[in-house]
Amino acid sequence: MRPDILNPLFAEVTALKGIGPGLAKPLDRLGLARIVDLAFHLPTGWIDRVPREELDMADAGRTIAITLTPQSYRSGNGRGPTRVQASDALGNYVSLVYFGGHPGWAKKLAPLGEQRRVSGRLELYGQELQIVHPDYCLPLDEAPDVAERESIYPLSEGITSRRMGQLVAQVIERTPDLPEWIEPGLLAKRGWPSWREALARIHADSSDAIARERLAYDEVFANQLALTLVRQSSRARRGRSLAGDGRLRAALKLPYQLTGAQARTVREVEGDLAQEQPMLRLLQGDVGSGKTLVAAMALLMAVEAGAQGALLAPTEILARQHYETLRRQLAGLPVEIAILTGRDKGKVREATLMGLASGAIHILIGTHAIFQDTVTYKDLGLVVVDEQHRFGVAQRMMLQAKARAAPHLLAMTATPIPRTLTLANYGEMDVSMLDEMPPGRQPIETRVISEDRLPDMVEALARHLSDGGQAYWVCPLVEESVKSDLAAAEARAETLRARFGDRVGLVHGRMKGAEKDAVMAEFAAGRIGVLVATTVIEVGVDVPNATLIVIEAADRFGLAQLHQLRGRVGRGSGKSNCLLIRGNALSETSRARLALMRETNDGFRIAEEDLRLRGAGELLGTKQSGEAAFRIATPEMLGELLPIATDDARLLIDRDGGLEGARGQAARTALYLFERDAGVALLRSG
Ligand code: ADP
Ligand code: MG
Repeated sequence: MRPDILNPLFAEVTALKGIGPGLAKPLDRLGLARIVDLAFHLPTGWIDRVPREELDMADAGRTIAITLTPQSYRSGNGRGPTRVQASDALGNYVSLVYFGGHPGWAKKLAPLGEQRRVSGRLELYGQELQIVHPDYCLPLDEAPDVAERESIYPLSEGITSRRMGQLVAQVIERTPDLPEWIEPGLLAKRGWPSWREALARIHADSSDAIARERLAYDEVFANQLALTLVRQSSRARRGRSLAGDGRLRAALKLPYQLTGAQARTVREVEGDLAQEQPMLRLLQGDVGSGKTLVAAMALLMAVEAGAQGALLAPTEILARQHYETLRRQLAGLPVEIAILTGRDKGKVREATLMGLASGAIHILIGTHAIFQDTVTYKDLGLVVVDEQHRFGVAQRMMLQAKARAAPHLLAMTATPIPRTLTLANYGEMDVSMLDEMPPGRQPIETRVISEDRLPDMVEALARHLSDGGQAYWVCPLVEESVKSDLAAAEARAETLRARFGDRVGLVHGRMKGAEKDAVMAEFAAGRIGVLVATTVIEVGVDVPNATLIVIEAADRFGLAQLHQLRGRVGRGSGKSNCLLIRGNALSETSRARLALMRETNDGFRIAEEDLRLRGAGELLGTKQSGEAAFRIATPEMLGELLPIATDDARLLIDRDGGLEGARGQAARTALYLFERDAGVALLRSG
């Protein structure tokens, strides 16, 4: 349960004074539904309202506040703006200009002969002074008469920064003093104010670095604390030692040797599985580094030890592919493998469920359907999660709840993640790195090409196909809707079919599972030459004979995503090419990003750059997983604050594992405040 002290913060914004339907909408568009959202909606800058006694040409360009008396109107006869001629105490004139509004409206705001306090940006129009759309024009007793710093907020249509500031002032007034969760020594060393004071300070002055830093630290600390709790709870649960005897692994016939990195990682996993404490390991490796094989070895270890293993994949396509690969690799071994996805129904599904419950099935591969309530395992010992970035901490916790004795967990990432983000998202895990590619890989040659040259691309594709090659053609990502994504892909498939006939296949996310499989199978078997696809092929798909990939509107993809897409080729020993088609109006950043893709195949480097260029949320695809998105901490701040917060969180848990002491209780408050409270649930049950 959330501590009572936080209740005012978690009330709806409509609890504030003066929020009618007119304001609720723009707030909603900004994602500001609750008071706490407003509290963390930080200003990005400010303007100073300089109070002036008299009008002065030298002030043109400044935002001033001044007392004026409206003297006459010059109405725009329906068309142009309404101009209110107003004078200061010395008789200097300024026009207050109102566009668009009904003239009556301006007259009501600025009645003739009555003093008004007016503020806005003073401008020179020819030789005359004017203020276009004053920020306010108020009776003297309603207006502030001191110099004001007004914070500027990210806005949406229908709300002004001034109004936002007024709402935030109410928010801060309602904000309770919270117990301090930061370690006193750290607080003193950094000179950080209390949480409430930091909040008040940053809203008053967006440049207050100390206040901002404190608030950033809070959310990072809450995040790291939650991860530490996951780790603690998982470690505290009894797992069981899975010591395989190696007989299945020895019988596995591979057409190649493990790379050094694969062998090392397999040993690390073996060491973990032998412990009673459940394994919590993250396997990071660049695209194509051979993570699947490590997963297979781990699953075999579990089976050798008499337990069951499950492999969770983010998409149907990927689940099928893993299933096929494993079935091929394990053919002839006494290992029963099954697949379970949302699509499997009826008798087949029943049989699979029975086999899982009886233990007849040793390895299950599937999508998240494998963790539905109706699925019971006889003895689940190991869970492998592929393409972990598609799942969040919450799902990891759910997995843990599934087996009575905590299963061992091996999570694999699609692409490398910068160190800071690894810590922020997987801080509870040990990390293995597959930092070595299988031998014989040739670097993928990447070129960036203007969309004007699309016809040339089609020619290049024709040559590639007639040489017996296969290719992917990835269609642009359209932000607004899945529908338009699809339309683009269908249209492209159509034009390519006009040229290449039935050697063109199409696969997209809206297709039925069976259709998708059929197309993928045709492509894998080489009967389809070019596979037109939306980003459903982004993760994991493995067809080594495909050595050309064309990516349309490449500038709309994130770098990590492009790298992942590009990783669909270069998987065999043949030379591979990647053609990135770009739009013509590119920003500097987009240019830099595409240039980087051309320059390097190194996923670790690309990840670092992507983080720098775009920020953490985008990079991790947090939109998909709902995972650690930081509202305040920037990538630079993360670099500095994460290690401190991680140590601090671990120290706190070492000393007060139940978060019972005074600081522990305060830390619980922080978990709730930053909505990392799934961690608290673990405390209770643990
Ligand atoms: P990812 O790490 O991107 O999931 P995969 O596991 O799909 O990579 O492996 C990429 C390709 O490399 C596959 O075709 C796989 O068969 C091959 N592969 C994996 N390990 C080795 C190895 N040790 N030597 C040669 N090829 C390998
Ligand atoms: Mg993979």
